[in-house]
Amino acid sequence: MNPREELAEIVAQAKRQLTYSRDIGLETPYLSDRSRAYLKGGPQLHSISSAGSLPYHSLPELEHFIGDCDRCKLGKGRKHLVFGEGSPRARLVFVGEAPGMEEDLTGKPFVGQAGKLLTDIIKAMGLVRDEVYICNIVKCHPPGNRDPEADEIQTCLPFLRAQITLIQPEIICTLGRISAQSLVDKGLKITRDRGQWRSFMDIPLMPTYHPAYLLRYAQAKRQVWEDVQEIMKKLGLNDPRQV
Ligand code: URA
Repeated sequence: MNPREELAEIVAQAKRQLTYSRDIGLETPYLSDRSRAYLKGGPQLHSISSAGSLPYHSLPELEHFIGDCDRCKLGKGRKHLVFGEGSPRARLVFVGEAPGMEEDLTGKPFVGQAGKLLTDIIKAMGLVRDEVYICNIVKCHPPGNRDPEADEIQTCLPFLRAQITLIQPEIICTLGRISAQSLVDKGLKITRDRGQWRSFMDIPLMPTYHPAYLLRYAQAKRQVWEDVQEIMKKLGLNDPRQV
């Protein structure tokens, strides 16, 4: 890399960091007025009291901070923002794609048909839903169940990062293509790359199929079970049962 490219990379990195800090509500007192103007727009910066500290220290505080969100276009059409639920000290966090219709109606993640299958998978691990944490890449239902769009994912991702920061799980399990691509790499192919350990925020991440896919292709349950067993091994849970 030549010095000019290196400088451009440093600036780009600093911009990403500053934008991220702003989106999660971190004060950035070292910004010049010019930089503040440059970073204007997108998710709103809420004022906070102390420099360098987050305006929330728990999941309920974070949920309150997100509020009645209209930072992206999904805010307009949703009934409920689906923040996520489970243990704030979960060792395992499941990340789906986006709330479906039933989740939109109830405000809870994975409560429809796919959710019932996820609940069965969790039970087969010897756990209950309250012992893990379940959330999504985007917190609002996309109209017509379409895939969340890149700008919606980018807007919502800081809040998933904040959830992970607060929970500090030992393992993240992504469900389906969209969540794996959003957290690992846009080039990830779920059929090729599921079952292989990756990482997100330095936390081991296991990509597996989405339970909705299992509803259509029951034969893929075997592969999901293999992936789940890898997770159980890492967590030291040694009582595998069949899904
Ligand atoms: N599918 C998802 O990805 N998330 C949910 O919460 C429900 C269905």
